[in-house]
Amino acid sequence: MTKKVRKKHPNSKKSEKYEVKGGELKRKSKFCPKCGSGVFLAEHKNRYSCGNCSYTEWKDKGEQK
Ligand SMILES: [Zn+2]
Repeated sequence: MTKKVRKKHPNSKKSEKYEVKGGELKRKSKFCPKCGSGVFLAEHKNRYSCGNCSYTEWKDKGEQK
């Protein structure tokens, strides 16, 4: 029997990344294509990056200086 321990995150910022408009759930952040839904990409100035697998997605492709 496996007991799932649910960690309580009273200050979880995950909910802040969702925005409910008219009953529709809108994602503010992108999900990591490697880790799948549930893992958000951290937004940086010019890129998104996954803290889980280090996946990086550039916002402006071809404009890296
Ligand atoms: Zn990832």
